[in-house]
Amino acid sequence: MKTRNLYIVTYGCQMNVYDSTCLGTLMKKRGWKLAEKPEGADFIFLNTCSIREKAARRVIGHLNRLKALKQKNPALILGVGGCVAEQEGQKLLKQVPWLNLVVGPGRLGEIPQLLENLTSDMPPIVLSGQAPLMTEPAASEPQDHRALASFKDFEPGPSPISSFLTIMTGCDNYCAYCVVPYLRGRETSRPKEEILAEARSLVNRGSLELTLLGQNVNSYGRPGHRGGQDFVELLTEVANIPHLERLRFTTSHPKDFPPALVDLFGQLPNLCEHLHLPLQAGSDRILAAMGRRYDSAHYLWLVSALRAACPNLALSTDIIVGFPGETEQEFNQTVKMLESIGFDFIFSFKYSDRPMTKANLLPDKIEEKEKQRRLAHLQAVQKAITLEKHQALIGQSLEVLVDGFGRNQGQLSGRSRDLKLVHFDGPESLMGQLVMVKILEAWPVSLIGELNSNQKKALQNLN
Ligand code: SF4
Repeated sequence: MKTRNLYIVTYGCQMNVYDSTCLGTLMKKRGWKLAEKPEGADFIFLNTCSIREKAARRVIGHLNRLKALKQKNPALILGVGGCVAEQEGQKLLKQVPWLNLVVGPGRLGEIPQLLENLTSDMPPIVLSGQAPLMTEPAASEPQDHRALASFKDFEPGPSPISSFLTIMTGCDNYCAYCVVPYLRGRETSRPKEEILAEARSLVNRGSLELTLLGQNVNSYGRPGHRGGQDFVELLTEVANIPHLERLRFTTSHPKDFPPALVDLFGQLPNLCEHLHLPLQAGSDRILAAMGRRYDSAHYLWLVSALRAACPNLALSTDIIVGFPGETEQEFNQTVKMLESIGFDFIFSFKYSDRPMTKANLLPDKIEEKEKQRRLAHLQAVQKAITLEKHQALIGQSLEVLVDGFGRNQGQLSGRSRDLKLVHFDGPESLMGQLVMVKILEAWPVSLIGELNSNQKKALQNLN
């Protein structure tokens, strides 16, 4: 029988990357091959994200570009998954009649079975909502793609050196601006033993770094969740897996950060010195309107507790500017928080109306031009802070996990423990290794360095 080829395009967050990896694993188990380009594929799947506005339009644009392939090969199956699939459902079929499959994130695990019989001349299939969660990976007909792709034959994703591992899905927080709870459903934790088994398998297969993922990992195992226990306990047990060099987790909600978790930053040697802690706004009135359930004083207290536990902790955050009703003074409170905390880097966005959310209905929307001005100002302030932090690293040596190539010939790149992007000259044989790099130059988004002299000597001896 002819081998069938699957081409996956992944938009958005690390959780989507993880989901795509799971789907690829499941399909490979059924004899499919992962293709590197869409041309010649038998099934093309767009795993989408709708956290930003115009997401559906972007996906439709992509599907329009794929129409030529469908005309050349009418047997080609085209599918859309992820949040746009959940949000748009049947509507996508009206705009893209050559689409065969629309599958929400909770139903991804059903795709391999569907494709056994689906042909492009059949009526399209739309699946949404949550499939039942598997708590016993070995049980008869599992539906959950995470359990399906779990430890026994899980294959690490595109970068086996550094792997993602989803520990929980969904979100119960319902922040006023966010679509995630409507599209990804209620919080569900995976059983601890299943996560540990998958983590061990990834490490055994060569992953030096693991990042535990969830919309709100700190809620892992909260009473009432299906499965899971305590996040502090889980993190400690994953950290104790032999040969795991680096451990990270994201994303954390500032309202759910227990002191025991803060303390782990000073206790677990392989827990990296970086934390992403979304602030969103510096004004207490705006934070309350966003439904974040913490105030600026709590956030500042948490930052100082974290820095007391781990003085060289790098911090990154998310900021939304121009939330409905945000005054100039309230925006300046956000800028002030940036200046007083000194984040290493930020992800910043203009507020945009998202369907189904509470903020959609709020009055006093800020004009686009004003949101743009605030965003540009905020980013300029942060750029200077980041550059200053990078300049302070000149002359220091950082441990870098090499996982890619730099822009210049012979240049390698990787991340330090505190998530700085570092470029340096070195042989390809260092790919996938931890090396020490002395920092020579600082730029706003990256650092340039050279291999430490003892590392260079060791390489010369090898040659
Ligand atoms: S915590 Fe808030 S912003 Fe984060 S996923 Fe949940 S609802 Fe969205």
